Amino acid sequence: MNREVRVRFAPSPTGALHIGGVRTALYNYLFARKNNGKFLLRIEDTDQTRFVPGAEEYIKDALDWLGITPDESPWNPADCAPYRQSERKPMYMQYALDLVEKGHAYYAFDTAEELEAMRERLTAARVVSPQYNSITRTQMKNSLTLPEDEVKARLASGEPYVIRIKIPRKEEVRLNDMIRGWVMVHSSTLDDKVLMKSDGMPTYHLANIVDDHLMGITHVIRGEEWLPSAPLHVLLYKYFGWEDTMPQFAHLPLLLKPDGNGKLSKRDADKHGFPVFPMDWQDPNTGDKAMGFREQGYLKEALINFLAFLGWNPGDHREMFTLDELVEAFSIERIGKSGTKFDINKAKWYNEQYLRAKTDEELAVYLQNEVAKDGLEVDAEKAAKIASIMKERATFPADLWKEGKFMLIAPQSFDQDVASKKWNQDAVTVLNSYVQELAADTAEFTPELAKALLEKAAESNGIKLGKIMQAVRLAVTGVGAGPDLMAVFVIIGKDELIKRIQFAVSTL
Ligand code: GLU
Repeated sequence: MNREVRVRFAPSPTGALHIGGVRTALYNYLFARKNNGKFLLRIEDTDQTRFVPGAEEYIKDALDWLGITPDESPWNPADCAPYRQSERKPMYMQYALDLVEKGHAYYAFDTAEELEAMRERLTAARVVSPQYNSITRTQMKNSLTLPEDEVKARLASGEPYVIRIKIPRKEEVRLNDMIRGWVMVHSSTLDDKVLMKSDGMPTYHLANIVDDHLMGITHVIRGEEWLPSAPLHVLLYKYFGWEDTMPQFAHLPLLLKPDGNGKLSKRDADKHGFPVFPMDWQDPNTGDKAMGFREQGYLKEALINFLAFLGWNPGDHREMFTLDELVEAFSIERIGKSGTKFDINKAKWYNEQYLRAKTDEELAVYLQNEVAKDGLEVDAEKAAKIASIMKERATFPADLWKEGKFMLIAPQSFDQDVASKKWNQDAVTVLNSYVQELAADTAEFTPELAKALLEKAAESNGIKLGKIMQAVRLAVTGVGAGPDLMAVFVIIGKDELIKRIQFAVSTL
């Protein structure tokens, strides 16, 4: 029987969604779309101590912004509601008790002090990672060591307890990961993880497996940091008797620091001044701020394309993919095993490509918004013209204005460096003649005409245009480099051009 493909993104609302989480969501989305399946979002909030207000909304807004909205979620519930684990709390106990009944889990009554004492004992005996496991549990207070009557009495009296999984002592646990192939782990390396906490909340492991089962999840696509938990999850499927519908696992490669040494962190981002979160975020508890790709001026198309390539490639040289094209091209087989370096320059490159692909009219809107921030105005037609010549030099929408202010504001000062190297009597001579040529000409002012008149002014003085070109630019824009100068002349207009040249000649 072919089941409908159902995948899920299962974040915990403990803060801003890291860009690695966004990639996980994107891959789940692509896989679901590619296979005509469903993409679910489940909020894993069983650890109430780590709950951060606003984190859930942040996750929702980030996915909505990027256009990878889940088919089923707390905000768009379907048959498997509720989609928040805290709201599913009453469901989990029966599953834990089922495992106790089958002999795959047990009650444990150890106090915090007793657990600490065990750890100290083991550390003193030079055990490297002290654990509650198939060996140590025999010396602890649990339903495997205490007489049945006593266990019953303790439970009846309301004594706090947890339910732990009973990991077998000698068993090879295998799973066939879609990215990593066969992964084999010996059960002696696993510990008896808590499934039910003393407050009646399930732990991540129990809730995650129960929910994936109940929600009909067919593929678990998640970060590599969850690979160590996967053998435990495989055992849980087996003990519940759900092996035949166990999802296939695909553990995504880590995102690495720009130099490839270790996991990408917020600290790297702060150090290098780039974002690792989709949108701005301020932690309501600590007040810590983090910058977002969106507010830095990254376009959603660029971020999607960039993220898709962090671990996946189409197998040929194509690099530009819309979301729909990614759906078409995506396959888990083409996800790599090894970690991917986070190269922010690639993200910028994508942004430049998508920015340039926009129409001048679309770019004009960005430009008008930026101009308005400075309390100025520019009409749509002029904004489109400015955008058309500035876009080749822009990485972000804000650059259209940041790098192009001279288009609306005449320079009041001039780049001293360029001035000392390039400003000379020849330049002044040509510019004075140019002003006369411009004033005398009555034809429509075009880039070609602007160029022809400038050439005429240079030639009539026997001066090579190439030698004074940068000085001309300096006079009109205030700086030594920029977009096509003749196009600039026409956009600012002949009168303004004359005024600027006269000001430069009298000032410089
Ligand atoms: N709640 C886990 C997380 O925060 C989900 C891991 C999984 O996908 O199984 O990433």
